[in-house]
Formats: sequence, structure tokens, C-alpha cells
Amino acid sequence: MKILVSDHLHEAGIELLRQHAEVEVATGLSKEELIEKIRDKDGLLVRSATKVTRDVIEAAENLKVIGRAGVGVDNIDIKAATERGIIVVNAPEASSITVAEHTIGLMLALARRIPQANASLKAGKWEKKKFLGIELRGKTLGVIGMGRIGSQVVRKAKAFEMHCIAYDPYISKKLAEELGVEVVELDELLARSDFITIHVPLTEQTRHLINAEAIAKMKDGAYLINAARGGVVDEAALYDALRSGKLAGAALDVFEKEPPFGNPLLELDNCIVTPHLGASTEEAQRYASLIACEEVLKVLRGEPPRNVVNMPRLPPEVLDKLKDHLALAEALGNFAIQLVSGRIRDVEVTFCGALAEEEHQEVLTNAALKGLLSPILTEGVNLLNAPVVAKNRDIRITQAKREDAEKYESLIILRVKTDEGETMVKGSSVGGEVRITGIEEYAIELTPSGKMLIVKHEDKPGMIGRVATVLGEKQINIGAMQVGRREKGETQLMVLSVDQPVGKEVVKEIASIPGVYSVKELEM
Ligand code: NAD
Repeated sequence: MKILVSDHLHEAGIELLRQHAEVEVATGLSKEELIEKIRDKDGLLVRSATKVTRDVIEAAENLKVIGRAGVGVDNIDIKAATERGIIVVNAPEASSITVAEHTIGLMLALARRIPQANASLKAGKWEKKKFLGIELRGKTLGVIGMGRIGSQVVRKAKAFEMHCIAYDPYISKKLAEELGVEVVELDELLARSDFITIHVPLTEQTRHLINAEAIAKMKDGAYLINAARGGVVDEAALYDALRSGKLAGAALDVFEKEPPFGNPLLELDNCIVTPHLGASTEEAQRYASLIACEEVLKVLRGEPPRNVVNMPRLPPEVLDKLKDHLALAEALGNFAIQLVSGRIRDVEVTFCGALAEEEHQEVLTNAALKGLLSPILTEGVNLLNAPVVAKNRDIRITQAKREDAEKYESLIILRVKTDEGETMVKGSSVGGEVRITGIEEYAIELTPSGKMLIVKHEDKPGMIGRVATVLGEKQINIGAMQVGRREKGETQLMVLSVDQPVGKEVVKEIASIPGVYSVKELEM
């Protein structure tokens, strides 16, 4: 086995590779040099510096696996790798403890103003009174996002005798309680916490989750910590809150623009900053290197890896046959997660018509789970680990089959039950294109793409016009529209394709139109 290591990886992983393979370490390569070196290699290991582009992948004649010693795979052309049957593996869990420890470090630094006291003493001052701090013991810590890092933060905060509460609409209450946190809604978390720490991915829902409105709901004198992603906090609103004293302090490891030179937050004494150091420890690097190298060796030995980024190990002919249905199942999952409210409890996938006899239904179910879970998790839900990720979140999965596929050759029905209700989306692959054929009990036929608005409303004259008027006033153009209903005079479901983002405010306005029952904005 020949393996190329083209970035600075921790030596521990490279030593492991050397026990089993012929290893070439060559960093700082130009694209041409990389193309030359990759030609005869079976495996490639990178961090984030090497750009594994399509040309590089296509030049690799023997390449079977690419390992990323870390989390993000933005530097690897996953599509090109998948097309060539090359498996991409990573090490998503490697830095969770490290980031959680940094978070606790930031919290202690805020409570005792360690960075400010350090600067003061080094400036020749002995200001004992000025730096009177507070204890963590007995304080309430609000954790936003209870994934890998958030749950580690809770474990550590409990050792400081803090009371932990959490907001994460996608984790079951039972699981959270096992971790020893009280699950609350966001507003309650904001109102009750002395310290708030953020551990969510940056998504459309979480962008500026902490804005002026959210800050106004926080306790006066609360502290905010962000070691997740910069865009989750509206920095201008945070600046105002720190200036006015509404918040006692903030600690930031991440920024909307990095490096944050010129960012006014850096000028505030009550804002502690670190240069995106969350994952930077010797151990996290060692662990990432070891995990990625182990995974690469597993693939080369034909064993199942744990952290596959791109695909299941199915024969190419099976993957090819299922390609369209995989895309359909994933799209149904992605559509459904944007429609549901509440914590997911059950997911049921029903295969109808020709698909009822499909022997690889499980992979299609996993694709639906991938579509459901990817938008809410930082990364790494794939066709292999999706059932494990779902199980860890206490989601029950069932499969069913049905002969009747309505007017289609085959049909997938995805039913998602949450603690607040249930949603159902049906779809078919028509000429290789994803088609949504039903939402709940409404027959609808649409190709999901771009921005959409789904409005459930009373079936009476004028409703469509009223919704369109609100959108028109806001300069939001409607590209297409569909209406579905069960019986005349009952509830109708309107699906609008819109050219501009609608946004929370306009969604609220439409929801307040008399006769409108619910409004959801979706993007596919
Ligand atoms: P994860 O995917 O394991 O967990 C994210 C959690 O957020 C999930 O439990 C999910 O249910 C929850 N979530 C999703 N949308 C939400 C919403 N709208 N409201 C509340 N909760 C929501 O991710 P992780 O590995 O724990 O990473 C958390 C964050 O830390 C990510 O933003 C990641 O990019 C960041 N990170 C930062 C550093 C650093 O150097 N500072 C290093 C690694 C990761």
C-alpha cells in the first residue's frame, strides 16, 4: 500500500501508517507536484492546506481513500471523489473535548477577568479591588446546541457545580436528561442563564440567533461565550450590549470575519478574545491524525470505517441503480426537517410500487435520515452512520412497504413524528428528477428547488391574494404557485416558489393573516 501525506500531520498517525504501508510525506506541494505524486498512491492524508481538486482526483490511478485529519472537508472535491469510487474519511470527534475545555477556560476567564488582570499586573499595577470576580458554583449555564461539544461542556460545568440548562430543538428530552441538563425553550434559557455558551452549527436558522432581540431577553449582567461559529452572534448587537453594560462580558473564539482585525469588539475591555483556538491542542491534533490514519488503513484493508464522508460501500452498479432514489430520499428528508416542529421521535419510510421489492431499502432509509439530520448537525451525517446518529438522538426508525404507488412506478413516503405532531411527505423520481407528490394529506406536484413558502390556510376566496399582497409589498417575487386541498371548503395548502428570501418577519406577518393556519419557509 502506498500512501501520500501532503499536509503537516501529527507524527502519531504517520507512525501508525508506516507500520502497514509505504508512506511518503511531502508537504507544500504545488498542484503539478501533487498530481505527479498522487498517481500511484492508494491513499492520501491531508489536513486543510492541500486542495484535493477534481484534477488531482482524476490523476490518481490507484487512489481508494482520502483521509482528512480534522472535521471540515471543504478542501476536498467530494463529488469528484464519489464519482471515482474514492472513499473520503475524517475525524469529526477529535476536537470535541479540546473545544469544550477551551469554552470552560473562557468562562473562568470571564468570571475572574484573568486576561484583564494579567495585562494590568504586567503594566505595573496591583489592582486587587478592581478584579473582584464571581464564582461559577451555583450559577446557571445555558448551553445552546447539545451536540458533541455542548454535551462535553455540560459534563465539565457540572464539576463546577453549575446548574445546566440547554436549548436544542433536535435532541430528545430523555437524552438530554441523561446528560443531566434541563431542556428549555430558547427564551427561557436566555432569561434564566448567568452564562450562555453557543455550540450550534452555522445554518440559516442559527445565523444571528443571538441578536439584539435575544440579548434583550437575557439577564442584565449575563455573560456570553461563543466558540462555535462567528455568524451565530450579531456582532453589532453584542457590541452595543457590552458597551451599555447589559451584558457583563463576552468571550469569543470565532468571528463573523476572521481574522477580526478592525472589529470594534476587540477594543472593549469586557470582551475576551482568542484567535479561533478552540480546537488547537496537541492532543486534538494527535487524535485527529491518529483517527484519520486508522480510518484510511481500515478502508485499504477492506474493513468498514466509522467516519465516511461521502458514500456507503456498495458495489458501483448498485449505487448507480439507486442514484435517483437516493437523491429523492435525501430530498424528502431535507424537505421534512424544514416542515416539522418539535423533537423528532419516529421516522417511518414506506417504499411503494417497484421500490417495495428493492433489496437495498436500508440505504434509501439512511439517505432520508441523512437529509433529515444533515441540516442540523455540524457535519458528517452520511449513508453509513445516519442510523447511528439517529439512534444516539433517540429517534426510532421503521420501514414499511406498499404495493400501491398511486400513479407512479415507485413512491417513497416519509413520515416524521415529533413531540408536537406529525408530518408526511411523498415523492417519486420522475425521469431522474425529484418530485414531491404530496405534503401531509394534500396532493401536490412540485420539483423542490430554491426558496419556498408553504402556507396552510382556510379554503375561502381571497386567501391567495392576501398572501401574495404581503409578499408583493416586500418586493418578494413569486416564481410559481401550487395549491392542494382535500375537499372543497376545507384547509388548503399553498406552495409558493419565491425569488428572494422571505425572512422571519414576513413569515410572521403572513401567519397573522386571519385564516392562515401555518407558514413555513423552506430552501432546497
Ligand atoms: P454537533 O453537530 O455535534 O452539534 C450541534 C448541535 O446543535 C446538535 O445537537 C444540533 O441538534 C444542534 N442544533 C442545530 N440547530 C440548532 C438550532 N437552530 N438551535 C439549537 N440547537 C441546534 O456539532 P459540534 O461538533 O458539537 O460543534 C458545535 C459547533 O462548534 C459548530 O459550530 C462547530 O463548527 C464549532 N466548532 C468550533 C471549533 C473552534 O475551533 N472554535 C472547533 C470545532 C467545532
